Amino acid sequence: MTEPTSLPLRNPRTGAHDGDLPVTATADVAAAGQQLRAAQPAWAALPVEQRCARLAALAEAIAARREALLELLLADTGRWHESVIEVDGTIAAIRRWAQQAPACLEEKPPQVEAIGFIHSQQTWVAYPVVGVISPWNFPLMLTLIDAVPALAAGCSILAKPSEVTSRFVPLLREALAEAGLAEVFVLVTGAGATGQAVIEASDQICFTGSVATGRKVGEACARRFIPASLELGGKDPALVLSDANVEHAARALAWGSFVNGGQSCMSIERVYVEAPVAERFIAALTREAAALTLTCDDPKAGQIGPVIAASQVELVRGQLADALARGARALTGGALVERGGVWCPPTVLVDVSDDMAVVRDESFASVLPVIVVADEAEAIARANATEFGLSAAVFSSDQQRALRVARQLQAGGISINDACLTGMVQTAEKQSFKLSGMGGSRMGTASIRRFVRARALLINNGTASPWWFPPAA
Ligand code: NDP
Repeated sequence: MTEPTSLPLRNPRTGAHDGDLPVTATADVAAAGQQLRAAQPAWAALPVEQRCARLAALAEAIAARREALLELLLADTGRWHESVIEVDGTIAAIRRWAQQAPACLEEKPPQVEAIGFIHSQQTWVAYPVVGVISPWNFPLMLTLIDAVPALAAGCSILAKPSEVTSRFVPLLREALAEAGLAEVFVLVTGAGATGQAVIEASDQICFTGSVATGRKVGEACARRFIPASLELGGKDPALVLSDANVEHAARALAWGSFVNGGQSCMSIERVYVEAPVAERFIAALTREAAALTLTCDDPKAGQIGPVIAASQVELVRGQLADALARGARALTGGALVERGGVWCPPTVLVDVSDDMAVVRDESFASVLPVIVVADEAEAIARANATEFGLSAAVFSSDQQRALRVARQLQAGGISINDACLTGMVQTAEKQSFKLSGMGGSRMGTASIRRFVRARALLINNGTASPWWFPPAA
């Protein structure tokens, strides 16, 4: 089959195709991999402080292009406020790595082992080429979140952002060149076939995306015996316990579920509320949801941006239609708004059942089913009855109770009396449970260890071998 040379770009605010994305030919992806593999040893041989100086330069080069980047992200995602947070947060994260990485990769002098004449030294060896395959929901941030610590560790990067949101790529290439990183960081563009070519050309893969694609990526990596860090989807639950401050919980959950149109991996997608506070909580959540407005007329006014990927529209429409046809009630929203682009108004759903797709499957939209439960045990059991395990939230005025409940949830990041803190706090380590992913923590300083292999240098300081073999009787 002939490869396409370009793909149409859709503007999520207008629904119009208003540009073309060049597709990197498969042969060119392979050639980029070879070029990166050739350039990587000299990069890894630099002192880590020099690599970090280039990262600091990258942060400045991106900061210098902030306004232009925001315009491109606006065209790709249709949203403004989230793009500001994305660009500024990415710059801050690069600066943080530029400061932190040297201590994380420090090699200590040889240590004396229990056998006194043997010394050992722990060293780290970077993977030559790390492939990054990223999704459309935070295009810039999720292309750099793993690439930056990997660069600091001494790897080179072959990255493919989502075809849906790749307009920022030329500007990022420019920033990389200005920071002296062009030889060790190549961005390619295209869809799934380009992603597969990245896997073939890499020595390790960092993938962020859906479970379905993550499975294909994991299988392709297994065939090549290369490690895969998979950061996948979720159906994050929130538990509102009987002693929770319901006003506070409703406000936090309205933001944690609806903002960014629900298009964040750690969006809250289900609420389990204990019966004694259910009525008050649902009323408060409905008020909060009704107060949020769509950005149809002006991306800088309103809180809820458009559905970014055209492929999501039918999924969300289908989930809503199925739930409403089977007895669910929408207390706010409930139907998509089409104005060229498509918006999903904040939708609070009640009278839902566990077998509805909107309760079971990822929605990735501003839709929040609320389920009333008899007690804490039922809330925990139903929150855990899912194939996902990304993050969760617990609300209670008794912090000890909240912590006890949180420890029983099968998820890697749990916010207490707040929602989506895993998106704001990047220093605490967390891993994905169940189908939400695989691999070491992407958060915290330890995440950099994913990009190096441990190598032990074991030194005999003078006793001739075979000292370990019993002498002849
Ligand atoms: P997809 O899985 O559809 O795509 C992710 C990336 O994989 C894209 O670059 C895509 O390219 C590429 N791709 C598609 N097919 C293949 C293939 N066969 N081999 C290699 N690469 C391929 O995810 P979405 O872009 O739709 O992103 C949304 C998903 O991402 C949600 O499930 C969300 O939960 C998850 N996510 C998880 C996060 C986490 O940290 N756990 C963070 C953010 C999002 P193209 O787009 O060009 O088809």
